[in-house]
Amino acid sequence: MAQPMLARLKELRPEANIDVLAPRWVLPLAQRMPEVSEAIESPFGHGDLDLGGRWRLGRTLAARGYAQAIVLPNTLKSALIPLFAGIPLRAGYVGETRYGLLNVLHKLDRKNPPPMVERYLALAGALQAPLPAVAETRLATSSTNLAQALARLSLQSPSDAHPVAVLCPGAEYGPAKRWPAEYYADLATKLGAAGFSVWLMGSEADQAVAQAILDAQPGCAIDLCGRTDLASAIDLISASQVVISNDSGLMHIAAALGRPLVAIFGSSSPKHTPPRSAAARVQYLAIECSPCFERVCPLGHFRCMRDLEPERIFAQALAAAGRTN
Ligand code: SF4
Repeated sequence: MAQPMLARLKELRPEANIDVLAPRWVLPLAQRMPEVSEAIESPFGHGDLDLGGRWRLGRTLAARGYAQAIVLPNTLKSALIPLFAGIPLRAGYVGETRYGLLNVLHKLDRKNPPPMVERYLALAGALQAPLPAVAETRLATSSTNLAQALARLSLQSPSDAHPVAVLCPGAEYGPAKRWPAEYYADLATKLGAAGFSVWLMGSEADQAVAQAILDAQPGCAIDLCGRTDLASAIDLISASQVVISNDSGLMHIAAALGRPLVAIFGSSSPKHTPPRSAAARVQYLAIECSPCFERVCPLGHFRCMRDLEPERIFAQALAAAGRTN
């Protein structure tokens, strides 16, 4: 979501070094972005205030002499480190009433909120230059790391002769963003019959969903959930022939890698967080209650996802992969 903003900064200020301060698990992603000079670990956990730790990190960063900080989260605590680091320009949304902490303040139009990418792009506008067109996201890959990951996981290298379909059945936000596990199982079986090896990809948090898929159709896929770090997940996805994903972080990674992608939306909106890729096929029914942005379907019927049947997603996956049934 943030990468087009980084690309814009680099376009406007090619001489600038852009460093990213982020939690450890995000660092591999920032390191694969060509605009980023250095990815620096933020050691603070979610909800962790640790004022003293933030002060010390801020004072360490002060030695780098940064000219500007752009704060993406809306929390009060996320604005502390740029202040402690003495960075003169500190841009961000007002969020948790951050007057004084930030000094280039942006206000969100809550009646007509822009998509996340545009929301972040506006923060780069603090440099007061003409706004270039929104670019697609893009990530670098590592063939060495890919080969190591394939060997470590005992996976056959994907190729046109041995095509791989990656399924991303998780979505951290909640079950209302997840296409049903039995549908993924049906899809995996269909893809297997069409000649694809099927990999389930996600984090440790997605292992229960992966297990539900394998319980529904034993042997329909290889479960890689929780078995790859983010860098290896990026490289494995980059080698696949097609990706089918819920609206999740891996969906955006597949889009940034330009892989043929079927992106499944239900309770969330493809207007809000669309995959930034011409190779993406968005599947969204836009039924009367959608998007509700709830974590669990408040109506119980979950029609936004249940009415998206596996046959339809299978046809889209084949078309995305350039195959006919
Ligand atoms: S309320 Fe509607 S959009 Fe929300 S999860 Fe249920 S079916 Fe989907």
